[in-house]
Amino acid sequence: MTPQSHELAQLNAQLTGRVIGPDGADYDEARTIFPGGFDSRPAAIARVADAADVAFVIAEARATGAELKVRAGGHSIHSVTQGGIVVDLRDLRELEIDPKERTAWAGTGLTAGEYTAAAGEHGLATGFGDTASVGIGGITLGGGIGYLVRKHGLTIDDLLAAEIATADGEVLMVDAESNPDLFWAIRGGGGNFGIATRFKFRLQDVATGVGGILVLPATPDAIANFLSEADAAPEELSTICNVMTAPPMPFLPEEYHGRPVILAMMFYAGDPDAGTPVVDRFRKLATPLADMVRPMTYPEMYPPEEDFHPIG
Ligand SMILES: Cc1cc2nc3c(=O)[nH]c(=O)nc-3n(C[C@H](O)[C@H](O)[C@H](O)COP(=O)(O)OP(=O)(O)OC[C@H]3O[C@@H](n4cnc5c(N)ncnc54)[C@H](O)[C@@H]3O)c2cc1C
Repeated sequence: MTPQSHELAQLNAQLTGRVIGPDGADYDEARTIFPGGFDSRPAAIARVADAADVAFVIAEARATGAELKVRAGGHSIHSVTQGGIVVDLRDLRELEIDPKERTAWAGTGLTAGEYTAAAGEHGLATGFGDTASVGIGGITLGGGIGYLVRKHGLTIDDLLAAEIATADGEVLMVDAESNPDLFWAIRGGGGNFGIATRFKFRLQDVATGVGGILVLPATPDAIANFLSEADAAPEELSTICNVMTAPPMPFLPEEYHGRPVILAMMFYAGDPDAGTPVVDRFRKLATPLADMVRPMTYPEMYPPEEDFHPIG
């Protein structure tokens, strides 16, 4: 069902945030997601300001029978709807870092890069994925695997609590003691159990390390040996290994464009002097086609071009 314009006007009046309709100046920007090729036109995009707003939008969708989709960082294809309502979480940007307790409360509209940059100012981190612009909303609820996975686990291993608006419009705090079943379900269950508006994360000490991109020719030996080295490496090292045809990236010699390569992104979360020999073992697997691995702070793993990603 597509909600009527007077119903959307009523919803807009209830919200602290705002409703963007097809006539809104920022409608096209607001309905665009990271993956290309989608041109869905929602009846309304609700840029919510808090959990109460989310509950209002859920109630509206229930009352009108409109399809309801949830969008955080917009990196999946699951937030699009033709004629329904999108709950857009991108204005939920609150971030309270407690360096003493090593915890952070974060609005689910933040991106991995934004959270990581702020936590990095304290030499702290929560592990997300390999791309700065991915939303903490989607990656956390899906589990979250990234550069700290071997040392500190998945993103959900550091999820301590969440604020969730449920399908019946209740706003709940969930953690190991309160609503433990729901807390269990959201750690990997995606957006199927409610709309998370805030997460509480544990922060890990991750000040400096050794990291970056290493590109090797993808021979069968190099692939097999890469996997053995990754397995044998100390847990400080996590690698994300893409075996792929080389994209025309400026840092790759032109003759390798279109040829099979190992494009590895890696981070050693620890003393750079200890990390460099660990990384050197990968450098020796074959003559590197590109080697941008160096001592760095953890936030530097997310390059300045926010949407840079060698695969996407
Ligand atoms: C370029 C790229 C790189 C990636 N790299 C990694 C990686 O290294 N590691 C990894 O684990 N994953 C990775 N992913 C996958 C990514 O984590 C998922 O696609 C994730 O769901 C995207 O989250 P989002 O908030 O950006 O997307 P969205 O499309 O906004 O959300 C994804 C899904 O979660 C739901 N959702 C989002 N936020 C909430 C919320 N607060 N409450 C309820 N439901 C919600 C949405 O409805 C949707 O179904 C990558 C994806 C891309 C496109």
